[in-house]
Amino acid sequence: MVDYIIVGAGLSGIAVTEELLSMGKTVRVFENNSQSSSTVAGGVFNPVILKRFTLAWQADEQMKIALPFYKALENKLNEKLIHDLPIFRKFSSIEEQNNWFAAMDKTNLVNFLNPKLYNDLNENLPSNFSFGQVMGTGAVNTKLLLEAYREYLRNVNLLDEHDFKYEEVRLLEGKVEFKGTSAGKIIFCDGFGLKDNPFFNYLPMNGNKGEYLVIRSKELKLNVAVKSSVFILPLGDDLYKVGATYNNFDKSSVPSQEAREQLLQKLETMITCKFEVVDQIAGIRPSTNDRKPLVGMHPKHTQLYCCNGFGSRGVLIGPTVAKQLIQFIERGVPLPSDINLKRFEKKHYLGL
Ligand SMILES: Cc1cc2nc3c(=O)[nH]c(=O)nc-3n(C[C@H](O)[C@H](O)[C@H](O)COP(=O)(O)OP(=O)(O)OC[C@H]3O[C@@H](n4cnc5c(N)ncnc54)[C@H](O)[C@@H]3O)c2cc1C
Repeated sequence: MVDYIIVGAGLSGIAVTEELLSMGKTVRVFENNSQSSSTVAGGVFNPVILKRFTLAWQADEQMKIALPFYKALENKLNEKLIHDLPIFRKFSSIEEQNNWFAAMDKTNLVNFLNPKLYNDLNENLPSNFSFGQVMGTGAVNTKLLLEAYREYLRNVNLLDEHDFKYEEVRLLEGKVEFKGTSAGKIIFCDGFGLKDNPFFNYLPMNGNKGEYLVIRSKELKLNVAVKSSVFILPLGDDLYKVGATYNNFDKSSVPSQEAREQLLQKLETMITCKFEVVDQIAGIRPSTNDRKPLVGMHPKHTQLYCCNGFGSRGVLIGPTVAKQLIQFIERGVPLPSDINLKRFEKKHYLGL
């Protein structure tokens, strides 16, 4: 008997598990490696939307919770997970440069947009205009985090590396049973796997495929991230992630030729030095209709909960909403209405 079963050990499952363990709750985590969003993610935390120069939804508040959360995990797992990563936005016109300065006047961005513009950032990245720097940015090595966290769960015998078969859940009075494990509640952190989850697949998750190329270039010598038509993210050892793509139609996690060509075309307009492609990776972002997370209790079964819908910002969103969900379940603290999956209940029951 455990207090909670958690389905999925991606960014959501890790944040939920940590929150529960910190309250002394007992858990069993199921992971079947069917989704790869958290593994392939760039891991970037950046409070500014670089297209429009606006603050991402609640990003300043989320940073205050996310950074200590990942720092604590660094200590717990004895791994270096967070890296400072300055992000530079390449401007493509004078108008964009002006918009940058206009955005700086908004009080919520003043701490994040550097008033100094940079020319000649790197000789292999020619530009007719300047580069602007976002401050306070960085990256979490999500692949390492997932590997290290799952290893930790294995060592303390809390990880079950099998498919969680939804149809085998037995809903009993005030508890659930799944294959010999009895639990008070289940929290589904199954990412785009939610589509196969009969309890929550009424929720409007679209899913958006993202792909990166991993390139090697000895000449590029870039130690900051640059955003132009694509992101170039330095990984060290002359390796860089280039991407990502956004595709609403293809729902497989298999790398595609189409994305490869698209990314190569964009990269070739950005850098002038030689490079070779050494890998291509893909995953489905658990994106929602209204771009807000899907968090809360099942409309009928009070033993079932969902923590999902992080879209393209799981690194920052995860720790905050996991905390909010557990506070809701354990202490009855109401969930903010913009993340509460209740917002879709009416439509669901009216069959809309
Ligand atoms: C190319 C790309 C780049 C990205 N870059 C960034 C970035 O730079 N910064 C950022 O913040 N976000 C980024 N994201 C988004 C981020 O990856 C997601 O928001 C986040 O990973 C979602 O985490 P999750 O745990 O909800 O879902 P997932 O990572 O999909 O985790 C769900 C887990 O549940 C498991 N699972 C599913 N069904 C079952 C089942 N039935 N039984 C057992 N296990 C199951 C899956 O195997 C998976 O491990 C990126 C995404 C992509 C695809």
